[in-house]
Amino acid sequence: MRFEIITIFPEFFSGFFEHGVVRRALKDGLVSVEVRDLREFTHDRHRTVDDRPFGGGEGMVLKPEPLAEALESLGIAAKAERGLSSLTLALEKNREEGASGSVDKDAGQTGTRVILLSAQGRRFTQATARELLPLERVVLVCGRYEGVDERVNSLYCDREVSIGDYVLSGGELAAAVVMDAVTRLVPGVLGNEASSEFESFGVKDTEISADETGVPRSQHGSGGLLDYPHFTRPAEFKGLAAPEVLLNGDHQQIRRWRREQQLRKTLENRPDLLEHAQLSDEDRRMLVDLGWRPGGRQPAGWPSRGRRQG
Ligand code: SAM
Repeated sequence: MRFEIITIFPEFFSGFFEHGVVRRALKDGLVSVEVRDLREFTHDRHRTVDDRPFGGGEGMVLKPEPLAEALESLGIAAKAERGLSSLTLALEKNREEGASGSVDKDAGQTGTRVILLSAQGRRFTQATARELLPLERVVLVCGRYEGVDERVNSLYCDREVSIGDYVLSGGELAAAVVMDAVTRLVPGVLGNEASSEFESFGVKDTEISADETGVPRSQHGSGGLLDYPHFTRPAEFKGLAAPEVLLNGDHQQIRRWRREQQLRKTLENRPDLLEHAQLSDEDRRMLVDLGWRPGGRQPAGWPSRGRRQG
């Protein structure tokens, strides 16, 4: 899989490419990346990439010409020329909204998708990362200032993607997030393939059949829940012992404990995930014992200091 990134800060990515899983994936040739400096596609003395917004208002906007030139230098034609008809795109969108589908490699010509990083985009999730995985090429366009001229989005970008409900000062961090999340799913990148399947937001339990006791077969069986807490040596640290159950070697007990912890953590930190999680009857009983009210409003916000202490 190849990533291509368009940015006004190409050097931003050097640290990112030189560490951990991404560095290894690049070194092993499992993914490749090219960063294009947007300023190379300007033609004035000041290498101007931005201009004032039509209609007035705050800030500056990334001009369309350098972005279009940068995209075309990567062989990216406008969508209409690429043969991604609005019908194809609508079908793709429908499939995504139907939740778990994957992007059809043959939709469009080349298995390439152009993504505009934008706070106005559709939320990037683990499911989005999985959908991008079959593509040959992902082009990531990083905005700055107030964003990019909307015509670049209309003409060239297949999808606007937001990494969360907050505003960053540029798309570079978001592009790194997308590249990291997708790269670690590429077969061969993680030492243990199961790592990416059985972590937070992992594949649904339908894809990891339960064993005869109804406990998901995977160690984590995340089924759309958050991961369980992890512990390592020493068994006691600053007066806190690692949970006894993890030390006794009884794998059935360990799996049950981990499932309960996943449910507890998800209820505490992301109760919204429970609506779509794959829950067994036993899971539901555990959740109710933990204070879950299905369909009801769950406690939200930080526990107050007073509540924590007392
Ligand atoms: N005026 C824009 C708005 O209110 O939606 C915010 C522009 S932001 C300051 C500059 C650039 O950062 C955007 O063009 C986009 O590329 C990137 N960006 C900001 N927040 C983002 C997010 N949540 N996800 C992805 N990219 C984001």
